[in-house]
Amino acid sequence: MVSSPVTYEVIIGLEIHAQIATKTKMFCACSSQYFGREPNVNVCPICVGFPGQLPVLNQEGLRKGLRASMALGCEISRFSQFDRKNYFYPDLPKGFQISQLDFPVGKAGQIKIRTESGEKTIHITRLHLEEDAGKLTHIQGGTLVDFNRCGVGLMEIVSEPDLRSAADSVAYAKAIQNILRYSEASDADMEKGMMRFDASVSLRPVGETKLYPRSEIKNLNSFRSLETAIKFEIQRQEELWNKGEAPTFDTTVGYDDTTFKTYFLRKKEGADDYRYFPEPDLPPLEFEESFLEDLRKDLSEMPETRYTRYLEQYKLSESEALFLMEDKNLADYFDSVVKISEDPKKASTFVLSILLGLLKKDGRGLAEGNVKAQEIGELIQLINSGKLSMNLAKGEVFEEMFSTGKNPTQIVEEKGLGHLLSDEDLQMVITKVLENNEKSVQDYINGKQAAFQFLIGQCMKETKGKANPEKLKQILTQLLTK
Ligand code: ZN
Ligand code: MN
Repeated sequence: MVSSPVTYEVIIGLEIHAQIATKTKMFCACSSQYFGREPNVNVCPICVGFPGQLPVLNQEGLRKGLRASMALGCEISRFSQFDRKNYFYPDLPKGFQISQLDFPVGKAGQIKIRTESGEKTIHITRLHLEEDAGKLTHIQGGTLVDFNRCGVGLMEIVSEPDLRSAADSVAYAKAIQNILRYSEASDADMEKGMMRFDASVSLRPVGETKLYPRSEIKNLNSFRSLETAIKFEIQRQEELWNKGEAPTFDTTVGYDDTTFKTYFLRKKEGADDYRYFPEPDLPPLEFEESFLEDLRKDLSEMPETRYTRYLEQYKLSESEALFLMEDKNLADYFDSVVKISEDPKKASTFVLSILLGLLKKDGRGLAEGNVKAQEIGELIQLINSGKLSMNLAKGEVFEEMFSTGKNPTQIVEEKGLGHLLSDEDLQMVITKVLENNEKSVQDYINGKQAAFQFLIGQCMKETKGKANPEKLKQILTQLLTK
């Protein structure tokens, strides 16, 4: 007898390490800017763990950690504390990492993610602060160590096992990245190693509620490896389950992004293995209510709120709102255009279609263009006050703005493009066009609608785009029905 195959549910939780955006390290005054630097230039006795050196908490790092916790909807308690996580590794000269165990700065948060199967709420267990380790480079015959990153402030954000697929996990990781950027707690630049993921993956037969042993994939540093590593791990575990050899204990695995496979590293450590104890060199933290209140007030608008504002207040389409929301810099730029022009529809046309379209052609990003938000705002004002036609604005004027970075008012003046034709002038032009196109006029009288469009086109050509299209239609209709 053939038994029907068991189907499995995938259970995933993510730990995300994100570098806190501070100028200096978390517990000393060394620069935190290690990207592209010569090895071992940002070091001092504190961060390389000389005996007797005392750490001092970076206040800006603490504030940013709290802001990120608030932005992720976490509960913030008035009390927080640092602990020592003891382990020996060559990139950790102190022999312990300053981290937080029982009293993290944030707990029990949640965020919304959008996936192909709809919106989901993902719960966040905790956000705690800690310090980064140094960096090892293995070469033939030895290993090099660089302590520039040692002691740089990190936020570790731990999710509940609420994710059900590789796609969920990527959507969640991107949403976290966006929120960290909105709250200005981290630049979360993946290319610079500012955000890294550990993904815990397990399977269970559909219908069961208990959790089975998981494997934790360490140190994934791109959305792409997050996705492919999880997919591989799901498939690997599914094959084990099908053979009746489901995992019996938690493991830690690595991921090789040249073979796209995960590989066994070790049996997973539990909290007991680290002999945590309260960090004796740092006083526990107690926050005044007013201090937390000020941080909360300071928090800028978060992605979801902005999305809703774009839909409800600006009447943008869902795809426009989503596209803007997912890129804070672009959304800030767009908001500046709207602030000046008071016209979200036209702002969307000029920013999303025209400006981004032209930039994309050149393979450039928003920051590399030379059109300022202020100037697009002004351009829309020129259109809305009847001084410039939409056609000219979109065409000649914008092209000039894009290539030279010149101000639109200046361009309009230099090229003599402003001042739409007066009603009288327009009437004269139309009259002339009608005289020159007697056949089309006759066609129109005989009921051919296409003739009307043809005449409009002729008038536009004759006025070189300086006619208000509404006015043109109105006067033309009047003259034709005389
Ligand atoms: Zn230092
Ligand atoms: Mn950690």
